Amino acid sequence: MKNCEEISQLASRACDEKISLMETVELKVHLMMCKNCRTFDANNKQLSKILKAQQEQDGIPTSKQA
Ligand SMILES: [Zn+2]
Repeated sequence: MKNCEEISQLASRACDEKISLMETVELKVHLMMCKNCRTFDANNKQLSKILKAQQEQDGIPTSKQA
């Protein structure tokens, strides 16, 4: 079983990339049992949604350094 720290890392990873089926199951099971991680996951998803919307508005940021 993963601990809360690992689960929070997994949850943030799941927002950006595809995680494996096993990881998805572990994440879901943990979220069912753990209120802390559920709150973290909800905040995380919300944040990632806002960031994505912002990026779409601005266009995908490319290297702006001269
Ligand atoms: Zn937890």
